[in-house]
Amino acid sequence: MLVKRDVKALQNIYLIEVLKGLAITMKHMLFSKAVTIQYPEERRNYSDRYRGMHYIKATNGVENCTACMLCPTVCPAECIHIVAGERPDKEKYPVKFEIDILRCCFCGMCEEACPKDAIKLSKIYEMSTSKRVVYDKDYLLEQRGHK
Ligand code: SF4
Ligand code: SF4
Repeated sequence: MLVKRDVKALQNIYLIEVLKGLAITMKHMLFSKAVTIQYPEERRNYSDRYRGMHYIKATNGVENCTACMLCPTVCPAECIHIVAGERPDKEKYPVKFEIDILRCCFCGMCEEACPKDAIKLSKIYEMSTSKRVVYDKDYLLEQRGHK
């Protein structure tokens, strides 16, 4: 069975809907506050609880870490690799301290577990790269200046 349609009437209805849509767009353009920012000139304030790039704390130029191995033990991503050494004063220290940051899920458990308050997560969030990244001890010590 053929159904006859009044095309002109339908077109008129579409026009009204298009105008309604345009009115909504204009309302948002003219009266709503922008939700985007002009990054990188503008930056958002992150929560105090934000967990970003790791760093290692140091006292008098010596890392606080005593290579107790608690952080690699609790790390759910198994992305912390430490090789321990011993100083003449018998204090242990990390000869090698690496974090495979692409495996890290930024859970903060390493920070929570550390008895020496040595490993911390900063508010640095600009970590994008096209390469596989393993942060070594020198780099992690450097980052404490940018926390
Ligand atoms: S933040 Fe979590 S996943 Fe990342 S290194 Fe620490 S314990 Fe591992
Ligand atoms: S960073 Fe803290 S938890 Fe990890 S090995 Fe060093 S002292 Fe232990």
